[in-house]
Amino acid sequence: MVKAPDLSRIRSIGIAAHVDAGKTTLTERVLYFSGSLHKMGEVHDGAAHMDYLTEEQAHGITITAAATQIPWAGHVIQLIDTPGHVDFTIEVERSMRVLDGCVIVLDGVRGVEPQTETVWHQRSGFNLPALFFINKLDRPGADFTHALATIRDRLGAEPVAVTVPLATGIGAVHLIDKTVLTFTGEQDEEVQASACDEELWASMASYREGLLLAVAEADDRLAEQVLNSVEPEPEDVWNALRELTLAGKVYPCFGGSALRNQGIQPLLDGVIRLLPAPLDRAPSVAHRGDGTEELVEIGTPGPLVAIAFKVQMWDGRRHVFARIYRGSLKPGDAVVIPTADGQLIKEHVARIFAVDANRKSRLKEAFAGQVVLLAGLRQATTGDTLCSPDHPLVLERIEAREPVVSLAIESMSSEDEKKLLEALDKLQQEDPSLRLEEDAETGQRLLWGMGELHLQIAFERLAREFGLRVRTGQPRVVMRESISTPACDDFLFDRLLEQAGKSVAMKARVRVRVTPLERGAGNEVTVDPGVKPEGTALSVPQAEALASAPGDVLASGPLNSTPLQDLAIGIEEVELFGSGSTPQVLRMVTAQALHRALTKAGGVALFPIMATEVVVPAENLGAVLGDLQARHAIIRDTVNYSNTATIRCEVSLKRLLGYVTHLRSLTQGRGSFSMIFDRFDTVA
Ligand code: GDP
Ligand code: MG
Repeated sequence: MVKAPDLSRIRSIGIAAHVDAGKTTLTERVLYFSGSLHKMGEVHDGAAHMDYLTEEQAHGITITAAATQIPWAGHVIQLIDTPGHVDFTIEVERSMRVLDGCVIVLDGVRGVEPQTETVWHQRSGFNLPALFFINKLDRPGADFTHALATIRDRLGAEPVAVTVPLATGIGAVHLIDKTVLTFTGEQDEEVQASACDEELWASMASYREGLLLAVAEADDRLAEQVLNSVEPEPEDVWNALRELTLAGKVYPCFGGSALRNQGIQPLLDGVIRLLPAPLDRAPSVAHRGDGTEELVEIGTPGPLVAIAFKVQMWDGRRHVFARIYRGSLKPGDAVVIPTADGQLIKEHVARIFAVDANRKSRLKEAFAGQVVLLAGLRQATTGDTLCSPDHPLVLERIEAREPVVSLAIESMSSEDEKKLLEALDKLQQEDPSLRLEEDAETGQRLLWGMGELHLQIAFERLAREFGLRVRTGQPRVVMRESISTPACDDFLFDRLLEQAGKSVAMKARVRVRVTPLERGAGNEVTVDPGVKPEGTALSVPQAEALASAPGDVLASGPLNSTPLQDLAIGIEEVELFGSGSTPQVLRMVTAQALHRALTKAGGVALFPIMATEVVVPAENLGAVLGDLQARHAIIRDTVNYSNTATIRCEVSLKRLLGYVTHLRSLTQGRGSFSMIFDRFDTVA
């Protein structure tokens, strides 16, 4: 029999950061130092172990989150490397959903960057305890203290230093153990700890004080020792710091340089000592079919509950990544997936694997707490709950984000047509933030994604994995519309209709009012009409018909047939004419009245506005600002730090199409930018 793993010895963590902070480089080091990997691969050589997709190697970025297992200090770290580019945030979101903690990597020169803020918010959504690794401290201009300050200022979180790198960039002081760590050996794999001399220790006073004041909060005995200037036991400090970290009160920070192999092992020790085991996490809420709830606690026995968090084609076959929350799973087991409309899909798990980046090894059984890869599931998709056939449950779903950019896409030849649709279906199964749609007016096929890079990668994969070349149109952005003035109108329907050989009078009248609301207000619908003739009342089906009519109308506005937002709809008056005012007639009449009122109210187009951050060498600031103004950007602020200027602004996504190439030419390739959807608004 296979034994279930000791849950207190598992850490399921993710590494998240702004693009280029060094996540993949750090992961390579972690694998190497733990003995899981025999050779370090470098991102810039296209040889990183975790970036195994050809597109990842060609672009030097991480696109899909890769999973791996690392043995460390008698524990197993289940690690998921996540991409930093905003176009692939769905990967971050669905990974965090199944993790117990995370390490956030910062560039030691830049500190917190825009995408750090995004992953931070995602982390906060799942209450994940986190550590920071301040990376790239070997770079000129790197500043550990400044990086910590950006955590406080931009994330509103309390950083507490644990290892402080030495000014030389080589070696670090450990503030809990009061030691100086050096990393020696051929590949810096040996950690040597020596006592910290008093002079160096004195220079650490402010960091040490920060740490002690923090732990004093958690433990009265420590507080007393700190007050009386008694050196607390390292073990007590670790325990108190762990408690604070699990509660999300402080965020321990480790300094180093992944590229130069500095500071990695103390970070791993920190992961084991400070981040939660599966047992330390709050139980998950699961919904039963009858509307009641059940708490699912990892480690308590019971029927299987697992969540599918990612679909991935592997050797051309469909595989599903899942995390088990309760029970166990064996090859051949039947599972059910409850659907949103109350159905149960039955499937069989054919094989189960443990995963190490692009290698997989078969498991005879998988247990609660583990992240595994499943083969044989044909229908399970991202966010589905897999459970025991006699105990169906639904865990909270993973929210997909709305894609914002689209390209018209056509196959080069008609023979490729079917193949293209199949390939696109596979890509969408893997990535719910890609969406294929037909334009109702032009009949064109549009592929929607989170950004231009996202779509570009999809096309590259079509070419490489499926041998498909496609023709694409100009990029287009997602749109919404609203109205400019209040308007009121009514509609009377009065017709004789043939029904089963008899002619029946169909008649009703409805009056509606539409009113524009503030940007971002959403839509409000009020159904409380005066009913004529006096003394009559609406039947339940009639009232339901009225309430359901605005939904259809709001989905496609009169201006551009795009969804309507920021308006109030009031159904003010209904006139009934006996049995001819059926629910169907009322629904149709309401929709017509709304169309008229909306047309009268005059449409306004709303465009996606992106919160954008552009980072450029200070000498290019003038040229870049001028160019942004030409793109009608609203500049929020500009910060100069260490020869780099950071511009925060709001720009319409339409005016940012192709910006990446333009920015490169303005800055000789040194500028970068990131953007994230903020709101829909009118633009200049
Ligand atoms: P990711 O996008 O967060 O996965 O970042 P990568 O690991 O791909 O690293 C981005 C770039 O920064 C690569 O060229 C790395 O070689 C480089 N890099 C990573 N860590 C360090 C570091 O500690 N010091 C320096 N100087 N460069 C680093
Ligand atoms: Mg990477």
